[in-house]
Amino acid sequence: MNLEHSQKRSPVPYKYVFQGSVLHIHLQIVAKTYAVLAPYREAGVESVCFWYGERQEQREEVKAVLIVDQENNPGNFRVIPESMMHVAKLFGSFGWTNLAQIHTHPGRDVEHSRYDDVYVNSRRAVSLVLPSYGAPERQFMTSIGVHEYQDYWYLLSPDDKVRRIVTDDNASEGAVIDVRTYRLG
Ligand SMILES: [Zn+2]
Repeated sequence: MNLEHSQKRSPVPYKYVFQGSVLHIHLQIVAKTYAVLAPYREAGVESVCFWYGERQEQREEVKAVLIVDQENNPGNFRVIPESMMHVAKLFGSFGWTNLAQIHTHPGRDVEHSRYDDVYVNSRRAVSLVLPSYGAPERQFMTSIGVHEYQDYWYLLSPDDKVRRIVTDDNASEGAVIDVRTYRLG
């Protein structure tokens, strides 16, 4: 059995340096993200989705939540790679890129596991962890773990986290792009 939460990472010194890129996200997209993950939460399994959008110099704006075929277990998940490939190509033609991977953990621990460090989709995107299998949280930014890769997947401090990701009423309210062929619930 491969329960990811049995695989804690070794502690490292915090050497993260904020590089200036800021991800803008509308709270409507946050709500859509919780909604799309809700059936997995109800089933008591981890789940994953992605935020796609535009990156222009240091401004990133989320335009869509992407949900793809995946295998879901109480302590881990796996993306079915074939499910992502054609979508990534389509989004590329819009000029959209993968800005964030979002996955859930069972409890309140929102730090990457060793499993997450290995299996995260892209090192250019930030990696978010939602607690309680993605139960909606009033204090969204406070509740989540935000990781960015700089030769290591740093869990951002509370100050760095709110520099890197900002909720923005003027950003796109976004759409859910659902390419799953199999759905839970
Ligand atoms: Zn994880």
